[in-house]
Formats: sequence, C-alpha cells, structure tokens
Amino acid sequence: MKVTVDQELCISCGLCISICEEVFHWNDDDKAEAITSDVPEELERDVEEALESCPTDAIKQV
Ligand code: SF4
Repeated sequence: MKVTVDQELCISCGLCISICEEVFHWNDDDKAEAITSDVPEELERDVEEALESCPTDAIKQV
C-alpha cells in the first residue's frame, strides 16, 4: 500500500499526522506529505483511518 497527499486539497488540519506520524509529516509548504515508500503493514490500518478521516479527501491510495 502506498499513499500520496494531493497538495491542492490539503488544508493543513493535521489530522493525518496526529493519526499516523510515522507515515505523514509536514512539508516546507506546511502541507501534509506521505512517505514515498510502501506503508509498513502494521501501519496500514492507521493509514486507512487517516485516508477515511481526511476532511477534504486529499489522501489518495496509489
Ligand atoms: S487530514 Fe487531509 S487535510 Fe488534514 S493535514 Fe492530512 S491530508 Fe491535509
């Protein structure tokens, strides 16, 4: 599983980072960004929660 954050849609609410800071982090534009590698299996459930919780549907599974 891999995810990306659509920079146009992210409103910097911080929810995904609070749910799974191992995968999501702030970038220099103060938007959320995901790790580019595969999500470790043990974090997939958290990432799915973040994906479903994002208020603007900015997190996409790729
Ligand atoms: S939950 Fe969505 S809108 Fe909020 S910081 Fe993460 S990607 Fe951006």
